[in-house]
Amino acid sequence: MIGKYKKQELFIGESSQKRLQESHAVILGVGALGSSTAEMLTRAGVKKLTIIDRDYVEWSNLQRQQLYTEEDAALKLPKAIAAKRRLEQVNSDVQIDCRVEDITGKNIEEMIKGASIIIDGMDNFETRLIINDAAVKLNIPYIFGACVGSYGLTYPVIPGESPCLHCIIEQLPAQTETCDSAGIISPIVQLVAAFQAAYALRVLSGKAVEPILVSYDIWSMQKAEIHADKLKDPHCPACSQRLFSYLDTGNQTKTDILCGRDAIQIRPGVSQSFDLDALAKSIQHVVEHMIVNPYLLACEFEKHRVVLFKDGRAIIHGTDERSRARAIYSRLVG
Ligand SMILES: [Zn+2]
Repeated sequence: MIGKYKKQELFIGESSQKRLQESHAVILGVGALGSSTAEMLTRAGVKKLTIIDRDYVEWSNLQRQQLYTEEDAALKLPKAIAAKRRLEQVNSDVQIDCRVEDITGKNIEEMIKGASIIIDGMDNFETRLIINDAAVKLNIPYIFGACVGSYGLTYPVIPGESPCLHCIIEQLPAQTETCDSAGIISPIVQLVAAFQAAYALRVLSGKAVEPILVSYDIWSMQKAEIHADKLKDPHCPACSQRLFSYLDTGNQTKTDILCGRDAIQIRPGVSQSFDLDALAKSIQHVVEHMIVNPYLLACEFEKHRVVLFKDGRAIIHGTDERSRARAIYSRLVG
Protein backbone atom coordinates (compact mmCIF):
# COMPACT_ATOMS: atom_id res chain seq x y z
CA MET A 1 0.00 0.00 0.00
CA ILE A 2 2.95 2.31 0.56
CA GLY A 3 3.38 4.87 -2.18
CA LYS A 4 -0.16 4.53 -3.54
CA TYR A 5 -0.50 8.28 -4.05
CA LYS A 6 3.18 9.05 -4.72
CA LYS A 7 2.82 10.40 -8.27
CA GLN A 8 -0.22 12.51 -7.41
CA GLU A 9 1.47 13.90 -4.29
CA LEU A 10 4.52 14.82 -6.34
CA PHE A 11 2.23 16.99 -8.47
CA ILE A 12 -0.17 18.56 -5.91
CA GLY A 13 2.15 18.64 -2.87
CA GLU A 14 2.20 16.81 0.47
CA SER A 15 -0.14 19.12 2.38
CA SER A 16 -2.68 19.06 -0.48
CA GLN A 17 -2.56 15.26 -0.54
CA LYS A 18 -3.20 15.17 3.22
CA ARG A 19 -6.13 17.52 2.80
CA LEU A 20 -7.53 15.38 -0.01
CA GLN A 21 -7.31 12.28 2.17
CA GLU A 22 -9.46 14.01 4.79
CA SER A 23 -12.20 14.97 2.32
CA HIS A 24 -15.72 13.68 1.70
CA ALA A 25 -17.08 13.76 -1.86
CA VAL A 26 -20.74 13.18 -2.74
CA ILE A 27 -21.57 12.00 -6.25
CA LEU A 28 -25.19 12.53 -7.22
CA GLY A 29 -26.05 10.05 -9.96
CA VAL A 30 -23.68 7.24 -10.97
CA GLY A 31 -24.50 6.90 -14.65
CA ALA A 32 -21.77 7.67 -17.15
CA LEU A 33 -20.35 10.88 -15.63
CA GLY A 34 -20.75 9.71 -12.05
CA SER A 35 -19.05 6.35 -12.78
CA SER A 36 -16.03 8.08 -14.19
CA THR A 37 -15.65 10.79 -11.52
CA ALA A 38 -16.30 8.24 -8.75
CA GLU A 39 -13.47 6.05 -10.01
CA MET A 40 -11.06 8.98 -10.35
CA LEU A 41 -11.79 10.31 -6.85
CA THR A 42 -11.58 6.82 -5.34
CA ARG A 43 -8.18 6.27 -6.94
CA ALA A 44 -7.11 9.77 -5.82
CA GLY A 45 -7.76 8.68 -2.22
CA VAL A 46 -10.53 10.82 -0.76
CA LYS A 47 -11.45 9.74 2.76
CA LYS A 48 -15.09 9.08 2.05
CA LEU A 49 -17.23 8.87 -1.08
CA THR A 50 -21.02 8.88 -0.98
CA ILE A 51 -22.79 7.73 -4.15
CA ILE A 52 -26.51 8.19 -4.68
CA ASP A 53 -28.57 6.86 -7.61
CA ARG A 54 -32.19 5.81 -8.15
CA ASP A 55 -31.73 3.54 -11.17
CA TYR A 56 -30.46 0.05 -11.98
CA VAL A 57 -27.85 -1.20 -14.48
CA GLU A 58 -29.15 -1.90 -17.98
CA TRP A 59 -27.36 -3.41 -20.98
CA SER A 60 -27.44 -0.10 -22.85
CA ASN A 61 -25.38 1.50 -20.04
CA LEU A 62 -22.30 -0.68 -20.53
CA GLN A 63 -21.00 1.19 -23.60
CA ARG A 64 -20.06 4.20 -21.45
CA GLN A 65 -20.73 3.60 -17.73
CA GLN A 66 -17.32 2.26 -16.79
CA LEU A 67 -18.00 0.85 -13.33
CA TYR A 68 -20.50 -1.75 -14.55
CA THR A 69 -20.21 -5.23 -16.02
CA GLU A 70 -22.44 -7.62 -17.95
CA GLU A 71 -23.11 -9.43 -14.68
CA ASP A 72 -24.47 -6.21 -13.09
CA ALA A 73 -26.82 -5.73 -16.08
CA ALA A 74 -27.97 -9.38 -16.02
CA LEU A 75 -28.74 -9.07 -12.28
CA LYS A 76 -30.35 -5.62 -12.77
CA LEU A 77 -28.34 -4.41 -9.77
CA PRO A 78 -29.00 -0.88 -8.53
CA LYS A 79 -26.21 1.31 -9.86
CA ALA A 80 -25.26 2.59 -6.40
CA ILE A 81 -24.77 -1.00 -5.15
CA ALA A 82 -22.81 -2.16 -8.21
CA ALA A 83 -20.66 0.99 -8.09
CA LYS A 84 -19.87 0.51 -4.39
CA ARG A 85 -18.73 -3.10 -5.03
CA ARG A 86 -16.43 -2.07 -7.85
CA LEU A 87 -15.01 0.99 -6.04
CA GLU A 88 -14.19 -1.04 -2.95
CA GLN A 89 -12.05 -3.28 -5.16
CA VAL A 90 -10.35 -0.23 -6.65
CA ASN A 91 -9.22 1.33 -3.36
CA SER A 92 -9.98 -0.20 0.03
CA ASP A 93 -8.68 2.92 1.84
CA VAL A 94 -11.81 4.83 0.81
CA GLN A 95 -15.06 4.52 2.75
CA ILE A 96 -17.77 4.07 0.12
CA ASP A 97 -21.33 4.83 1.24
CA CYS A 98 -24.16 4.20 -1.18
CA ARG A 99 -27.86 5.01 -1.29
CA VAL A 100 -30.47 3.78 -3.76
CA GLU A 101 -32.71 6.83 -3.69
CA ASP A 102 -34.36 9.52 -5.74
CA ILE A 103 -32.93 13.00 -5.08
CA THR A 104 -35.60 15.54 -4.13
CA GLY A 105 -35.85 18.95 -2.50
CA LYS A 106 -36.89 17.14 0.65
CA ASN A 107 -33.87 14.83 1.11
CA ILE A 108 -31.02 16.65 -0.65
CA GLU A 109 -29.78 18.67 2.36
CA GLU A 110 -29.49 15.60 4.54
CA MET A 111 -27.69 13.76 1.69
CA ILE A 112 -24.95 16.36 1.22
CA LYS A 113 -24.57 17.73 4.77
CA GLY A 114 -20.91 17.81 5.84
CA ALA A 115 -19.61 17.07 2.32
CA SER A 116 -16.44 18.75 1.04
CA ILE A 117 -17.72 18.73 -2.54
CA ILE A 118 -20.70 17.65 -4.65
CA ILE A 119 -20.25 16.21 -8.15
CA ASP A 120 -23.07 16.31 -10.69
CA GLY A 121 -23.89 13.04 -12.45
CA MET A 122 -27.54 13.89 -13.13
CA ASP A 123 -29.58 13.57 -16.29
CA ASN A 124 -32.13 16.35 -15.78
CA PHE A 125 -32.16 20.06 -15.03
CA GLU A 126 -34.81 20.17 -12.37
CA THR A 127 -32.67 18.05 -10.05
CA ARG A 128 -29.61 20.16 -10.86
CA LEU A 129 -31.45 23.28 -9.67
CA ILE A 130 -32.39 21.45 -6.46
CA ILE A 131 -28.71 20.54 -5.99
CA ASN A 132 -27.64 24.13 -6.75
CA ASP A 133 -30.03 25.50 -4.12
CA ALA A 134 -28.79 23.05 -1.50
CA ALA A 135 -25.11 23.64 -2.35
CA VAL A 136 -25.49 27.42 -2.07
CA LYS A 137 -27.53 27.14 1.14
CA LEU A 138 -25.03 24.80 2.84
CA ASN A 139 -21.97 26.50 1.30
CA ILE A 140 -20.61 23.37 -0.43
CA PRO A 141 -18.78 23.56 -3.79
CA TYR A 142 -20.81 21.94 -6.59
CA ILE A 143 -19.30 20.84 -9.90
CA PHE A 144 -21.91 20.91 -12.66
CA GLY A 145 -21.46 18.62 -15.67
CA ALA A 146 -23.72 17.48 -18.50
CA CYS A 147 -23.35 15.71 -21.83
CA VAL A 148 -25.42 14.35 -24.70
CA GLY A 149 -24.39 13.13 -28.16
CA SER A 150 -20.81 14.37 -28.58
CA TYR A 151 -21.41 17.63 -26.69
CA GLY A 152 -20.77 18.43 -23.04
CA LEU A 153 -20.26 21.26 -20.59
CA THR A 154 -18.91 21.89 -17.10
CA TYR A 155 -19.02 24.72 -14.57
CA PRO A 156 -17.85 24.96 -10.95
CA VAL A 157 -20.23 26.60 -8.46
CA ILE A 158 -18.19 27.84 -5.50
CA PRO A 159 -20.72 29.41 -3.07
CA GLY A 160 -19.73 32.90 -1.97
CA GLU A 161 -17.23 33.19 -4.83
CA SER A 162 -18.66 32.28 -8.23
CA PRO A 163 -22.12 32.90 -9.71
CA CYS A 164 -24.37 29.89 -9.10
CA LEU A 165 -25.94 27.62 -11.71
CA HIS A 166 -29.16 29.65 -11.57
CA CYS A 167 -27.20 32.84 -12.42
CA ILE A 168 -25.72 31.34 -15.58
CA ILE A 169 -28.75 29.34 -16.69
CA GLU A 170 -29.40 31.57 -19.70
CA GLN A 171 -25.91 30.77 -20.98
CA LEU A 172 -26.74 27.06 -21.08
CA PRO A 173 -28.29 25.47 -24.17
CA ALA A 174 -31.97 24.54 -23.80
CA GLN A 175 -32.27 20.86 -23.03
CA THR A 176 -34.23 19.48 -25.95
CA GLU A 177 -32.47 16.15 -26.30
CA THR A 178 -31.48 13.37 -23.90
CA CYS A 179 -29.04 10.46 -24.21
CA ASP A 180 -32.04 8.30 -25.02
CA SER A 181 -33.20 10.46 -27.89
CA ALA A 182 -29.89 11.76 -29.32
CA GLY A 183 -27.54 8.98 -28.19
CA ILE A 184 -24.09 9.55 -26.73
CA ILE A 185 -20.49 8.49 -27.32
CA SER A 186 -18.16 7.67 -24.45
CA PRO A 187 -15.27 10.10 -25.22
CA ILE A 188 -17.47 13.10 -24.34
CA VAL A 189 -18.31 11.45 -21.01
CA GLN A 190 -14.63 11.03 -20.22
CA LEU A 191 -13.87 14.62 -21.23
CA VAL A 192 -16.62 16.16 -19.07
CA ALA A 193 -15.74 13.83 -16.17
CA ALA A 194 -12.08 14.76 -16.50
CA PHE A 195 -12.93 18.47 -16.15
CA GLN A 196 -15.17 17.72 -13.17
CA ALA A 197 -12.51 15.59 -11.47
CA ALA A 198 -9.83 18.23 -12.10
CA TYR A 199 -12.06 20.90 -10.55
CA ALA A 200 -12.73 18.53 -7.64
CA LEU A 201 -9.02 17.84 -7.06
CA ARG A 202 -8.34 21.58 -7.03
CA VAL A 203 -11.13 22.28 -4.54
CA LEU A 204 -10.27 19.32 -2.30
CA SER A 205 -6.59 20.18 -2.23
CA GLY A 206 -7.36 23.78 -1.30
CA LYS A 207 -6.58 25.50 -4.59
CA ALA A 208 -8.56 28.32 -6.23
CA VAL A 209 -10.99 27.57 -9.05
CA GLU A 210 -11.84 29.99 -11.88
CA PRO A 211 -15.58 30.29 -12.66
CA ILE A 212 -15.38 29.28 -16.32
CA LEU A 213 -18.23 27.62 -18.20
CA VAL A 214 -16.56 25.36 -20.75
CA SER A 215 -18.41 23.58 -23.54
CA TYR A 216 -17.02 21.29 -26.18
CA ASP A 217 -18.05 19.04 -29.00
CA ILE A 218 -15.62 16.15 -29.22
CA TRP A 219 -16.88 15.08 -32.67
CA SER A 220 -16.45 18.43 -34.42
CA MET A 221 -13.61 19.47 -32.06
CA GLN A 222 -15.29 22.78 -31.21
CA LYS A 223 -14.77 24.43 -27.84
CA ALA A 224 -16.19 27.54 -26.18
CA GLU A 225 -15.44 29.24 -22.86
CA ILE A 226 -17.44 31.82 -20.96
CA HIS A 227 -15.83 33.56 -17.99
CA ALA A 228 -18.73 33.76 -15.58
CA ASP A 229 -17.21 36.15 -13.02
CA LYS A 230 -19.43 39.03 -14.22
CA LEU A 231 -22.57 36.92 -14.63
CA LYS A 232 -23.70 36.97 -10.99
CA ASP A 233 -27.37 37.95 -11.05
CA PRO A 234 -28.05 40.52 -8.29
CA HIS A 235 -31.64 39.22 -8.21
CA CYS A 236 -30.75 35.50 -8.31
CA PRO A 237 -33.32 33.71 -6.11
CA ALA A 238 -30.63 31.26 -4.96
CA CYS A 239 -27.31 33.03 -4.35
CA SER A 240 -28.55 36.66 -4.00
CA GLN A 241 -31.97 36.41 -2.34
CA ARG A 242 -31.34 33.02 -0.70
CA LEU A 243 -34.95 31.94 -1.26
CA PHE A 244 -34.06 28.37 -2.34
CA SER A 245 -37.41 27.75 -4.00
CA TYR A 246 -36.31 24.35 -5.38
CA LEU A 247 -35.95 23.08 -1.81
CA ASP A 248 -39.57 24.04 -1.25
CA THR A 249 -41.30 20.73 -1.83
CA GLY A 250 -44.39 22.56 -3.09
CA ASN A 251 -42.43 23.27 -6.29
CA GLN A 252 -41.25 19.72 -6.80
CA THR A 253 -42.21 17.32 -9.50
CA LYS A 254 -44.97 15.16 -8.01
CA THR A 255 -45.65 11.52 -8.62
CA ASP A 256 -49.01 9.95 -7.92
CA ILE A 257 -49.69 6.24 -7.99
CA LEU A 258 -52.84 5.70 -10.04
CA CYS A 259 -54.58 3.04 -8.03
CA GLY A 260 -55.73 -0.04 -9.88
CA ARG A 261 -54.09 1.08 -13.14
CA ASP A 262 -50.50 -0.07 -12.58
CA ALA A 263 -49.46 3.43 -13.61
CA ILE A 264 -47.86 6.55 -12.19
CA GLN A 265 -48.70 10.13 -13.00
CA ILE A 266 -45.88 12.66 -13.06
CA ARG A 267 -46.62 16.36 -12.61
CA PRO A 268 -43.68 18.75 -13.07
CA GLY A 269 -43.26 21.33 -10.31
CA VAL A 270 -42.57 24.14 -12.75
CA SER A 271 -45.44 24.60 -15.18
CA GLN A 272 -44.37 24.20 -18.78
CA SER A 273 -45.79 23.78 -22.22
CA PHE A 274 -44.40 21.03 -24.43
CA ASP A 275 -43.96 21.40 -28.15
CA LEU A 276 -45.32 17.92 -28.78
CA ASP A 277 -44.25 17.85 -32.45
CA ALA A 278 -40.65 18.72 -31.57
CA LEU A 279 -40.65 16.15 -28.78
CA ALA A 280 -42.07 13.53 -31.16
CA LYS A 281 -39.25 14.23 -33.62
CA SER A 282 -36.53 13.88 -31.00
CA ILE A 283 -37.81 10.59 -29.53
CA GLN A 284 -39.31 8.94 -32.66
CA HIS A 285 -36.43 6.48 -33.17
CA VAL A 286 -36.36 5.21 -29.57
CA VAL A 287 -40.09 4.70 -29.00
CA GLU A 288 -42.73 2.60 -30.73
CA HIS A 289 -46.40 2.97 -31.66
CA MET A 290 -46.32 6.75 -31.32
CA ILE A 291 -49.48 8.79 -31.67
CA VAL A 292 -49.45 12.60 -31.53
CA ASN A 293 -52.50 14.81 -31.43
CA PRO A 294 -52.86 18.47 -30.37
CA TYR A 295 -53.30 17.44 -26.73
CA LEU A 296 -50.94 14.55 -26.08
CA LEU A 297 -48.21 12.25 -27.29
CA ALA A 298 -48.59 8.53 -26.57
CA CYS A 299 -45.92 5.92 -27.22
CA GLU A 300 -44.29 2.76 -25.97
CA PHE A 301 -40.84 2.94 -24.39
CA GLU A 302 -39.08 -0.09 -22.93
CA LYS A 303 -42.38 -1.96 -22.63
CA HIS A 304 -44.04 0.95 -20.80
CA ARG A 305 -46.96 2.79 -22.33
CA VAL A 306 -46.15 6.49 -21.87
CA VAL A 307 -48.59 9.35 -22.34
CA LEU A 308 -47.15 12.90 -22.30
CA PHE A 309 -49.53 15.84 -22.10
CA LYS A 310 -48.98 19.35 -23.43
CA ASP A 311 -48.69 20.81 -19.90
CA GLY A 312 -45.69 18.59 -19.07
CA ARG A 313 -47.71 15.97 -17.21
CA ALA A 314 -47.18 12.30 -17.99
CA ILE A 315 -48.64 8.91 -17.19
CA ILE A 316 -46.22 6.00 -17.17
CA HIS A 317 -47.99 2.63 -17.38
CA GLY A 318 -46.65 -0.73 -16.29
CA THR A 319 -45.00 0.29 -13.03
CA ASP A 320 -45.93 1.25 -9.50
CA GLU A 321 -42.41 2.42 -8.65
CA ARG A 322 -42.15 6.21 -8.45
CA SER A 323 -38.39 6.29 -9.05
CA ARG A 324 -38.73 4.09 -12.16
CA ALA A 325 -41.43 6.37 -13.57
CA ARG A 326 -39.32 9.48 -12.88
CA ALA A 327 -36.30 7.85 -14.54
CA ILE A 328 -38.33 7.07 -17.69
CA TYR A 329 -39.69 10.63 -17.75
CA SER A 330 -36.18 12.13 -17.45
CA ARG A 331 -34.85 9.88 -20.19
CA LEU A 332 -37.54 10.92 -22.65
CA VAL A 333 -38.09 14.53 -21.74
CA GLY A 334 -34.90 15.60 -19.90
ZN1 LIG B 1 -27.09 32.67 -8.38
